[in-house]
Amino acid sequence: MAVFRTFQFARGNYSLLLRRCYGSMSSKQGLVLGVYSSEGKDDVKFTPYAQKYNESTAGKLLEQINICGPVKAGQTRIFWDLGKYPAVAVAGLGDASKWDELDEIDGAKENVRVAAAAAVRALSANKIGEIVVEDMERHAQQAAEGATLANYKFQAFKSKDKQTPLPTVRFADDATGKEEWNRGVIIAEAQNWARLLMETPANHMTPSIFAANVSERLSAAGVEVLVHDEAWATEKKMGSFLSVTNGSAEPARFLELTYRGSQDDRCVALVGKGITFDSGGISLKPSANMDQMRADMGGAANVVSTILALAQLKAPVHVKGFVPLCENMPSGTATKPGDVVFAMNGKSICVDNTDAEGRLVLADALCYASSFNPKFILDIATLTGAIKVALGDCVSGVFASNNELWNVIHEAGSQTGDRVWRMPLFKHYSEQMCDHNGYDLNNLGKGKGGGSCTAAAFLREFVPKGTPWLHVDIAGVMGDCSDQSYTGSKGMTGRPMRTLVEFVTKASKAV
Ligand SMILES: [Zn+2]
Repeated sequence: MAVFRTFQFARGNYSLLLRRCYGSMSSKQGLVLGVYSSEGKDDVKFTPYAQKYNESTAGKLLEQINICGPVKAGQTRIFWDLGKYPAVAVAGLGDASKWDELDEIDGAKENVRVAAAAAVRALSANKIGEIVVEDMERHAQQAAEGATLANYKFQAFKSKDKQTPLPTVRFADDATGKEEWNRGVIIAEAQNWARLLMETPANHMTPSIFAANVSERLSAAGVEVLVHDEAWATEKKMGSFLSVTNGSAEPARFLELTYRGSQDDRCVALVGKGITFDSGGISLKPSANMDQMRADMGGAANVVSTILALAQLKAPVHVKGFVPLCENMPSGTATKPGDVVFAMNGKSICVDNTDAEGRLVLADALCYASSFNPKFILDIATLTGAIKVALGDCVSGVFASNNELWNVIHEAGSQTGDRVWRMPLFKHYSEQMCDHNGYDLNNLGKGKGGGSCTAAAFLREFVPKGTPWLHVDIAGVMGDCSDQSYTGSKGMTGRPMRTLVEFVTKASKAV
């Protein structure tokens, strides 16, 4: 009953966000065109589509651009009353060769995302109600990604009359690459859903509400969704997972998702940390910025949105998702520092710090995922503040037990612009977690520093030796990132789900 009530509530909020009011938006159409620029030169080079549009204005568009000067990468200029569309936003695509090799990014693709996003924002600020985007010379997918990610605003809890209306964005009818455009829209809309799940306040995104949202959205896309309860987890002997929810009044949930896009018997397993609020438990966090911990289910949001996108794209892969969901709260029933708990594989864990709870819920989820004999397991989690110290807010840390899989995810990151960086799985870190007298593992490392590496070493103890495994630490890219203008610099990001979609599609063929 409780689940049903919260489910209704969640759906109400969701439709609030999606409902677009056009009250103060004009019915005018705006067109987005791309233009290249090169260092030190003032000549204008249009994309083929923009070239044709310029011809349809008898060259007036080019004349106007020449009056203002070149449009540099990421810049936008709006021209009015030129040709078929009342507003034409010319977006600067820059010069892809200007990207440094060491940046490890496909510059041509990234420039299109940045340009499309800037143009959509400029037209939207001018109250253009319908935005039409060209193909950006065989980059329709990236144009769709930039445009869709930029056309997002979290305002579910604002009074209706105070909400900012958003325009509709669509592909130009006479452009080429409709299929690629649709692919970009599906992926970016799934990322926007991950952003919404992460941003929503914890009292409106409890484990039950999260599970209900996922059931509704993924079932509609043809994904099998099983929502397990605490009794099920007890039966499975998930003592590590259950120790985290001990202090919370909200019941825990465990999602098991299956998308069968291929006849492959063995699945790819995705595991996502779903702490819907992390107070730290008895090892309470400082109060400053504690509200950010509503997004401590970013790993879960990545897994469910990746599977949604794969299903909507009809990707030929067999994927299972495993998502442990609970709150980490202090109370008279909460786990105490020094308590020893048992994971599903029988290993005993001393919980030295109740704020290192992500690894505790993942331990049991990894054990359960392993029982399906997957081709490989990828787990993803907002796991450690230490990864942000190491890498900042522009890249996810990846710990890989398999070089081929590392190569695939590394390449996927450079294609999507949402990059990954490899971190070590040295025995040294494992010894720090496992060398104890009274129990098998401690949830804190013995030494100083390397907190992301010892966390990964802890997780490794719950993956069978022969199963290829990747652990992705996304605490750095969780929110307020400054490196991707199209995702914006404020709010929760849903990163790096586009890299996961690319990776799963390629990796299920590679191994
Ligand atoms: Zn924590």
